Amino acid sequence: MPMNAGEQFCSYQHCPKRGLKKQGNITIHDRVRQRYRCKVCRKTFSERTGTLFEGLRKPAGLVLIVVTLLAWGCPIQAIVAAFGLDERTIAS
Ligand SMILES: [Zn+2]
Repeated sequence: MPMNAGEQFCSYQHCPKRGLKKQGNITIHDRVRQRYRCKVCRKTFSERTGTLFEGLRKPAGLVLIVVTLLAWGCPIQAIVAAFGLDERTIAS
C-alpha cells in the first residue's frame, strides 16, 4: 500500500490539527510499519488509527455485519453461533 501523508490526519484528541487533511502537519514516520507522525503534537499513528476497525483482526466486512446486527438488537449469542466468533471479540 503506498503511503500518502496528504490523505492522513491526526486523531489525537488534544491536537489543534485533529481531523484535518492536507495541512502539511503529517509526515511519514516509518515506511516499514506504515506509520505517520504529526508535526504539531508529535504523535505517531498507523494509517487506520481512529477507525472502528483498529486492532481487530477480523475482515472489515464481517465486522460491519456484526456491528449492524448488534445495532438491530441481534443477541450476541446468535452472532457467536452464526459466525463462530468469540463472544469477547464481539463485545470489543
Ligand atoms: Zn497532531
